[in-house]
Amino acid sequence: MTFTEALHKEGILLFDGGMGTMLQAQGLIAECPEMLNQTHQAEVAAIHRAYREAGADVVETNSLGLNTVKMAKHGLESEIPALAQAAVEAARLGVGEDIPAAFSIGPTGDFLAPYGSLTFDALYQAFVPAFAAAEKAGAAVLYIETQCDLTETRVAMLAAREQTALPYVPSFTFEGNGRTVMGNPPAACAVLAQRLGAVAVGINCSGGPEELLPVVKAMRAATTLPLIVQPNAGLPEFLDGVTRFPFSPQDMAEKMPAILEAGADGIGGCCGTTPAHIARLRELIAGRSRPRHPDALPETLSHRRVVLPLAEALAALGSFALRPGSTLSDDMEDWMDETEEAEAMLLDVSAVEPEEIAALLDEEQDLMRRPLLFRAGNAAQAEAALRHYCGITALYGPGLAEAAARYGAYYLGE
Ligand SMILES: [Zn+2]
Repeated sequence: MTFTEALHKEGILLFDGGMGTMLQAQGLIAECPEMLNQTHQAEVAAIHRAYREAGADVVETNSLGLNTVKMAKHGLESEIPALAQAAVEAARLGVGEDIPAAFSIGPTGDFLAPYGSLTFDALYQAFVPAFAAAEKAGAAVLYIETQCDLTETRVAMLAAREQTALPYVPSFTFEGNGRTVMGNPPAACAVLAQRLGAVAVGINCSGGPEELLPVVKAMRAATTLPLIVQPNAGLPEFLDGVTRFPFSPQDMAEKMPAILEAGADGIGGCCGTTPAHIARLRELIAGRSRPRHPDALPETLSHRRVVLPLAEALAALGSFALRPGSTLSDDMEDWMDETEEAEAMLLDVSAVEPEEIAALLDEEQDLMRRPLLFRAGNAAQAEAALRHYCGITALYGPGLAEAAARYGAYYLGE
């Protein structure tokens, strides 16, 4: 069964539970847990098999850390293709061909400059070796999970879309304030995922079902995509140097109905959940049907921090022409004073080189607390703006409808 078939079957879709915590519970503790796909492939496969026997419809590979940034820390960058292949093989060994293996990939742990040390291209390339190997090895979907920075998630989605033919699903993790570590609200994550072509959107890790409930509601209201929710077995407790997740399978089964009622199409578990938890969730979802989705994706502009109805943003639009060699911060104060009432900003980049547009957005877009729209003079300028801007935007300029469509932007004509 392909992932897309599984995603659209009747009833609630059941994912597997924790992998890292299951390996640790067996004493399989490795500095680089993905090495276990080679050194202990039978043990990894046995965990996948246990999840399938518990009733999971989809399993996730043991490959969370297989991006070049994380693997470079172990000096194992060049091993990524082999380890990705071994991860998919371990899943196949465990569950056969009947259910899809989702290839799990997690965050780099670094950020784009100025928050971190990465350039856009380095971040993009960080995902390419694992994605290519996962596709070759027969993974059904790229599951871009435990995401805490929408900018990085967006770049990973671009790499997935441009470098493979596989479907992709971003899954985000949230803090106690209901936002990601980098301040992204759930609605912005969901809207951006849908407009960039993801086949579903997810929430994983973060906390237990109770902590995730408001986030599930916010995402459900913002997207028509299937929503997949994989909480931890409660908030971790630290006792005598040991991390423990408190919820038993029965506890989880008692707390998950609220998640289903809030609109989840798929559920599973993250840290601390076991095949016993998944078996209880299988009983819980028996006979349940899918939730109602919004009828259509709302027409919105999003920036990594805000989501605005498109009509409202267009009605109160401030504008700014970027001069070659200028920076946003140079003129920021004047601009902000002049346009205090503006809901969104139109940035005219038609006099600026594409490389300069890209660099400026990478470095300074976060100074803008409102969505940016662009006026571009040609396709190269539009492309630079749309690739590097972290949000859903709208575009003015001659002949740019195709570029806008490719990045899920609204085209507003010349
Ligand atoms: Zn987790």
